[in-house]
Amino acid sequence: MKFEYFKHPEKFAFFVEEPTACSVCGTVDLCFDAGGYSGVNTIDCICYECLKSGKLLELDIEANMNFDDGTEAAHTISYKTPSFPTWQDTPWPMIEGEYPVFECIASVEDFKDKAEFMDSFIETDQTKAEIEWLWDCLPKKKLHSYKDGGDISVYLFSLNAEKYWVWDAN
Ligand SMILES: [Zn+2]
Repeated sequence: MKFEYFKHPEKFAFFVEEPTACSVCGTVDLCFDAGGYSGVNTIDCICYECLKSGKLLELDIEANMNFDDGTEAAHTISYKTPSFPTWQDTPWPMIEGEYPVFECIASVEDFKDKAEFMDSFIETDQTKAEIEWLWDCLPKKKLHSYKDGGDISVYLFSLNAEKYWVWDAN
């Protein structure tokens, strides 16, 4: 299972609880939970092959929101990438016209120190000073599943070996 923009789907993508028939092709598999995907149509779940091959495009269902600039990357993130595990409808970030890769829900161990954490925040609606308190809310140990996260999540992305993050809360 491999996605260009989602590093560890086995840990951080939403899956159905047990093998279920894919809503698109009917194959019984441990499908991605597509209940939260938005679009004209709705489906319960989708298998890896269907997601990867772009079946969501035909159904006009988006797994991820992003500032769709019409590029192949935007298209891949919208239709061929599992949803990143947010509480709110958080859009996929964009860094100077490029889309970063979703790495994980972050912990203290994902950063060298607080300075690096602060430096890698993507300032949009909030300034770095306003989110400094989040450092103290980070889980101390690396997460192995989205289920290990708390009610506040920091989503770590990477682009050209640089770290970036956005956050939201339950
Ligand atoms: Zn399928």
